[in-house]
Amino acid sequence: MIRLYGATGNEGKVREFRLAAQERPDIEIGQLPGFAQIPPCVEDGATFEENAILKARHYGARAPGLVFADDSGLECDALGGAPGIYSARFGGLHASDATNNRVLLETLEHVEPRTARFVCVIALIDGARLCGVFRGTVQGLIARKPMGSSGFGYDPLFFFPPFARTFGQVSMKRKLTVSHRGEAMRALLASL
Ligand code: IMP
Repeated sequence: MIRLYGATGNEGKVREFRLAAQERPDIEIGQLPGFAQIPPCVEDGATFEENAILKARHYGARAPGLVFADDSGLECDALGGAPGIYSARFGGLHASDATNNRVLLETLEHVEPRTARFVCVIALIDGARLCGVFRGTVQGLIARKPMGSSGFGYDPLFFFPPFARTFGQVSMKRKLTVSHRGEAMRALLASL
């Protein structure tokens, strides 16, 4: 059995990591022991890759064995790729998902196009050794209003044309078959 620790406090991400790993019964994913007590990582990288590696190194140094961390976000073409690495705080520091969604809708109100992509980069660390960096993306459109209540973050606004639904309107399992996090997780699992 291979045990991996996910370094995140985001419950939505943890659920998706666990579901993705169900394809591999030889792999067990747990939350990093004592995660809440570890001082938060300063995420001052300029890219998803830099931030994922910063987080993996920060938390990996405080736990035995394999630790992974993801940095993810939404890139809107009309905003030159924003909010990007600032997705979690687009509506302000510690903004709720609802606030972030509202601010995104207001920002896009009079601008085109509404094309966007989710990006997820996962870094895997074993102690101080960086074992791999895995990237996944998914293309979609920003809806005019939130639709659906499944998922987290910007899911209710992220319209995925092949499903004719937002990620907020599909199950976590269906989202994972096409999502940025699903793609990055499959690459990570294939590397083990
Ligand atoms: P991070 O914890 O710095 O990686 O922040 C990622 C932020 O990007 C989240 O708080 C969400 O706002 C957004 N995000 C990333 N992945 C997803 C997703 O799968 N669905 C919806 N929002 C996401």
